[in-house]
Amino acid sequence: MIENVPTADELRTVSLRLYFKAWSEVTAIVTEWERFSGLATPDWSPERGHFYLDTADSSGNEAISEWRDYIEAAQSDLQGIYTLIQQSQEIGLKARICDVSPYLLLKRTDIKPANSATNTWDFTDFPTIDASELVRVHNTFCSTVLSKEFQAMFDEIRRNRNKMHHLGIYRRALDPQVIIDILQMHYPELYPGRRWMEDRLHFATLHRWANYADSDYNERSDLFHELWQLLPGLSEGQYRWLMGHGREEPRFICFSCSSDARLGGHQPYETDAPTAFQVGDTLEVRCVICDGVYPMKAGTCPNDECESELLSADEESEGKCMECGWSHEEWEEQMVRQKAYRSTSLDLLGLVGKKGDEA
Ligand SMILES: [Zn+2]
Ligand SMILES: [Zn+2]
Repeated sequence: MIENVPTADELRTVSLRLYFKAWSEVTAIVTEWERFSGLATPDWSPERGHFYLDTADSSGNEAISEWRDYIEAAQSDLQGIYTLIQQSQEIGLKARICDVSPYLLLKRTDIKPANSATNTWDFTDFPTIDASELVRVHNTFCSTVLSKEFQAMFDEIRRNRNKMHHLGIYRRALDPQVIIDILQMHYPELYPGRRWMEDRLHFATLHRWANYADSDYNERSDLFHELWQLLPGLSEGQYRWLMGHGREEPRFICFSCSSDARLGGHQPYETDAPTAFQVGDTLEVRCVICDGVYPMKAGTCPNDECESELLSADEESEGKCMECGWSHEEWEEQMVRQKAYRSTSLDLLGLVGKKGDEA
């Protein structure tokens, strides 16, 4: 008999952990730049977004050359991310094959038993099929076939990763935009039927400091930070994949997620990365993070600078503006506070800013 036979779920979890490790590392490379450098990235383009390496630009544009130096210095990080992705893809394919039968993963069975007295083998002692065989085995035994694009990408990444692994040399420069494109194609092919945002949140809770998480900053706060700094720079295709809607579609606040993420007090405010979209022509929104559907009602926003005519009709956030987040009560309290400040002759004009800036 064979012991330690892996399950498909076990392998899928390993694959997803590697996937989201790659994701958070590549997004950290771009969001750190946005956060700390104060410098510009290349011009945004609908196809490539913002985070690409333009080696052809010789205009002498200082911001572009700073960004290029930064990405060139990040090459060893990007190669590390690339190999994480390769490993994630290999194990993700193995998980899908394992759904049919784990024994399809074995390359040979001519090995010694782990315990010959009891005639027991350990699954992990058997050599498993080569990465170059995985696609063929997958397409022969699994009920779905991998797309041609995915197969080509898998092969290319596998070959490139071998160069990095065996020689430590990889001459083609990697840019974050390409890595994000790879991760975009990878997810639906290897984990069909799963929801990306749900997995993003779940796998973000599995890091080494998870047990010491601060209740004021949790994995949802982290996701809002990420979306706030990442979305404007994504290409149109990447944006649509992540948010499930085009960039031109208006976004509304999900009060459930923003309250769980403890937004307010500093950036990102709940208006900086709204995550809900109107459901057709109805008075309902659906949030891409929590997948919750929340009711709205027609009404005027108390904030003169906001033109929204939609207020929340949800029990928890009743009456708050779907676009700026202010309720009539909060707005009035804010006005009273402002008057009080003014009467102490402090110049606090302009204090009415983002919601949550309450002194
Ligand atoms: Zn939500
Ligand atoms: Zn408003």
